[in-house]
Amino acid sequence: MPLTSAPAITPIAILSALPQEQRGLIELLHQPRKVHHASRDFWLGDLHGQSVVLALSKIGKVAAATTTTALIERFGVRRIVFTGVAGGMGQGVKVGDVVVATDFVQHDLDASPLFPRYEVPLYGKTRFHCDATLSALLFEASSKALAHESLATHGFHDACVHQGLIASGDRFVSSAEESRSLHDLLADAGHAVLAVEMEGAAVAQVCMDYGVPFAVMRTISDRADDSAHVDFPDFVEATASRYAHLIIERFLNLLSKK
Ligand code: SAH
Repeated sequence: MPLTSAPAITPIAILSALPQEQRGLIELLHQPRKVHHASRDFWLGDLHGQSVVLALSKIGKVAAATTTTALIERFGVRRIVFTGVAGGMGQGVKVGDVVVATDFVQHDLDASPLFPRYEVPLYGKTRFHCDATLSALLFEASSKALAHESLATHGFHDACVHQGLIASGDRFVSSAEESRSLHDLLADAGHAVLAVEMEGAAVAQVCMDYGVPFAVMRTISDRADDSAHVDFPDFVEATASRYAHLIIERFLNLLSKK
């Protein structure tokens, strides 16, 4: 059932995986309106002068695909931006850095020998690309946000922004051995991965199906290694919403000038 009072301006969706990442954004929303749909809360309102829908993907690829589909079908969004956290995998991708995705691969998809490993069957594709224009804005917004003095108080003086491939799968990667083996297997297949998380590739696939441009930024909360189970919750509680807030504010300001 479509929304009866459809917003005059097509809203942009801001998607997060975890409530801690979304928290600060809901507080900033002007004229917030909560809509419960598909067992999820969607927050409609204005943020930094833009009409937005804030949503939680929930965790994992299926949940993220459901949220993305609902955003497009029910709320009519035509652009999606994801802010979340991820485990760093590439060399030099450290806690506190930001990775802006160029494209996504599903590291747990394997229909071989029927299809090449990692290829999404019947799509004839392994990597799903983000929108170049939105991603460039997100990169600029992230670079500006990292220069903000408040992040120094979180201890991330030398944080930097990377841009590249992110791998998604339904696993929290939390051992150095698993991380290395995932990284090396993907590299052998020609996929040089910077970070690992659990939703982005699903958002990318749904957005490709509907022709909806999207961009993703992930702050590195852990190194997907033996201390990931400690580093991840610490980062999510203390820092994730600060990053999301600073980056989204700058992103929406840049977008309004386009
Ligand atoms: N309910 C738990 C589970 C979080 S799962 C909790 O809140 O504590 C981890 C989330 O962070 C997922 O959304 C995933 O996309 C991202 N993530 C961060 N580090 C990750 C890692 N090392 N491996 C996989 N996903 C990671």
